[in-house]
Amino acid sequence: MTTKIKKNILKLKESSTLAINEKSKELIKVGKKIYRFGFGQSPFQIPEKIVEALRLNASKKEYLPIQGLPELREKISNYLFNRTGVKYPKENILITPGSKEAMLLMHVTFNGEILTPAPSWVSYEPQAEIGRNKVHWLETSKVNNWFPTAKELENKLKKISKKKNIILILNSPNNPSGAICENFEEIAKIAKKYNLIILSDEIYTDLSFDNKYQSISKYYPDHTFISGGLSKWCGAGGWRLGFLAVPNGSKEFMNSLKSLASESYSTVNTPTQFAAVEAYNGDYEDYKLKVRAILNAVGTFVYNNLKSNKILINPPQGAFYLMPEFKNKKFKSSSQLCEAILHDTGVAMLPGSDFGFKPNKMLTRLSYTDFDGVQFFKKVTDYKSISEEMIKKYAPNVVEGTAKLSNWAKNL
Ligand code: PMP
Ligand code: GLU
Repeated sequence: MTTKIKKNILKLKESSTLAINEKSKELIKVGKKIYRFGFGQSPFQIPEKIVEALRLNASKKEYLPIQGLPELREKISNYLFNRTGVKYPKENILITPGSKEAMLLMHVTFNGEILTPAPSWVSYEPQAEIGRNKVHWLETSKVNNWFPTAKELENKLKKISKKKNIILILNSPNNPSGAICENFEEIAKIAKKYNLIILSDEIYTDLSFDNKYQSISKYYPDHTFISGGLSKWCGAGGWRLGFLAVPNGSKEFMNSLKSLASESYSTVNTPTQFAAVEAYNGDYEDYKLKVRAILNAVGTFVYNNLKSNKILINPPQGAFYLMPEFKNKKFKSSSQLCEAILHDTGVAMLPGSDFGFKPNKMLTRLSYTDFDGVQFFKKVTDYKSISEEMIKKYAPNVVEGTAKLSNWAKNL
């Protein structure tokens, strides 16, 4: 039997982040030593009080409103206001099963075109294709910290802006580069001039190593959508709890999002929404300080030990990624490069081509989360002094994988 598939769906493959996770696990199962630098998942435990809130609410079984628990939306509204200075009232917030779903609903609802910097997270383009919105890539460069300058953005818009109906996706700290955007203000000016809509993916913003929460919404509040959730700062990726905050004046858009939600997942599971109230209401600053300090220390270790005349790389600023560039003429594509590295060293990474770069750019994404975050977290008493000895003791796979990669690159 051949069950016919729509053309735009047939084109999709399994998301490469999830695929590398499964491939790494399979290789480990058959006895291979694999350094899991491919998948990006927080290694830390969820704060105990939040887990306790989930336990206490496990027996709650009624469906909640489509848009999400009002109390949770209120807390997220306050959380965003405290960080961005912009008021997204609770009526403007939709709770979703992960922010990935929030973005998908947005793509399905929106009628226009998508502009996204290269590099960008692997799922933006496929999601836009599911929504049948055309995607434009905006190349960025290492010298500009992998974010577009105002001039680059304007030049690109001049070429494509006849439709004047464009969403620009921004993600800072960035997956895959680990960089923080330092020019939101000038980007916002151009966005205003061209009447762009911004989708600000703030899933990692609480993991900014400078401890500042920066959002473009501050400069362009009435056109900025924000997505976020518990997956990264709180270590709760598997809980699938995210949100979308829509700017004022988007009631019709929100109603369509709600219709889509009601016809697909109905509403997010009840116990997790109650637990999330605790996550957004409680004070988890100490937890975040420690998580950021450990990630920063591990990321900096990897950076220091990789950078060389064969590997170009910018220092880590947030999230848990680095984007090394290998100088070589041997490989034709970044996926060939990643396959060779995996074969020769056991280090699993993702190719830059999954993040919007041309295949012949020898960029890769390295996630430095292959360590037992629960143990590491417990052992850190002073987050200001995480020594190299601690990194060696509590993140041995990261240390070993980095050494293998660095040695491998010497022969390029
Ligand atoms: N945006 C980026 C840049 C991500 O890396 C992720 C993590 N997969 C997400 C969004 C989605 O996160 P979640 O659906 O778990 O909220
Ligand atoms: N965000 C993670 C990554 O980029 C994985 C989860 C996902 O892609 O949904 O590796």
